[in-house]
Amino acid sequence: MKPLPLLLILAVTVGPLAAHEPVTRARTPVRLPDIPGYRTLKCDFHIHTVFSDGLVWPTVRAEEAWREGLDAIAITDHIEYQPHKADVSTNHNRATDLARGRGNELEVIVIRGSEITRSMPPGHLNAIFLTNSTPLATSNWLDALRAARAQGAFIFWNHPGWEPQLKDGKVQWFPEHTQLVAEDLLHGIEIVNERAYYPEAHGWARERNLAPFGNSDIHEPIHMDYHLHAGDHRPLTLVFARERSAEAIQEALFDRRTAVYSGGKLFGEEKFVRPLVEGAVRVLNPAVTVRGKGRAYVQIHNDSEVTYRLERSGDVADVVFPRSLVLVGGRTVLLELKAQGAPEAGTRAVALPYQVTNALTAPGTPLRLELKAEVTFAP
Ligand SMILES: [Zn+2]
Ligand SMILES: [Zn+2]
Repeated sequence: MKPLPLLLILAVTVGPLAAHEPVTRARTPVRLPDIPGYRTLKCDFHIHTVFSDGLVWPTVRAEEAWREGLDAIAITDHIEYQPHKADVSTNHNRATDLARGRGNELEVIVIRGSEITRSMPPGHLNAIFLTNSTPLATSNWLDALRAARAQGAFIFWNHPGWEPQLKDGKVQWFPEHTQLVAEDLLHGIEIVNERAYYPEAHGWARERNLAPFGNSDIHEPIHMDYHLHAGDHRPLTLVFARERSAEAIQEALFDRRTAVYSGGKLFGEEKFVRPLVEGAVRVLNPAVTVRGKGRAYVQIHNDSEVTYRLERSGDVADVVFPRSLVLVGGRTVLLELKAQGAPEAGTRAVALPYQVTNALTAPGTPLRLELKAEVTFAP
């Protein structure tokens, strides 16, 4: 057999490579609206690197966050647990310093934090907005928290429902936590950690005036735990800040202006969750006409990335409307209206009552949402 001409061999071997697009390092925004008076900042305040038990270099954390549309992150390596210490520095400030360098280049705010890692109680606590993590390396956990607070730190309780630390299989609030709140040493609580939601913690956040947090607690490269290209996302703490700065985030946290976005669900006080939903959901054609036994279609647009799942929570005189409605993120859906019985001709304002099953204002309490339309009944 004749040998293949050299050019053909080159075309076969080099061709597919040459056709490759250059690798694009792109940022995907998190599409959630700002709320009146505040910007909605997307943050993750619980992140590990190789400087404790994580498997990622700190600079990579900043670029991961940039790619996922985050505004701010906190690097929170364990103070008491440094399994890579034979290979990397044990300087508790080093991870944030490295991540911050990259964060500054990409305009991702990098906040200095540390995870104070103790048995329950009090369990694991993150102190963020530290100026120096070193004084937290001390044997008594109360001393560590006081050292953090002396630097102006905001402190929150991590993963209160983490299985290895449950007592009698239950998520529990201990007297130590009451003491921490009383001493101004506890200001927030993770109601979501990784993919786990803790309804008990959500309740405590409300009862004890703690800011609710949803954080990734990521140890591996982010894409190993989250299918980012399939629309999956890490849990986020949404911070309602006056501007996009570290100082504004700190002020917002101490004022408890946070909500949680995790697994396509929202959790938080109604005063924050309602404007997030209502700021995105819009009735495009509120005035419709129903003729006799015919139908009318109201178009509802959802300008956010969250797909809101609605269940009817009541009836309205004269109209038949859907029991369930899925407001797909970024899309416009149809709501079909029909006349109930034979209503009198004329125009009336109707408010269709729904509850948003994936927007919880308290444990087990979905946000109530009214879709408003003006219906003209004609023969
Ligand atoms: Zn932990
Ligand atoms: Zn952690």
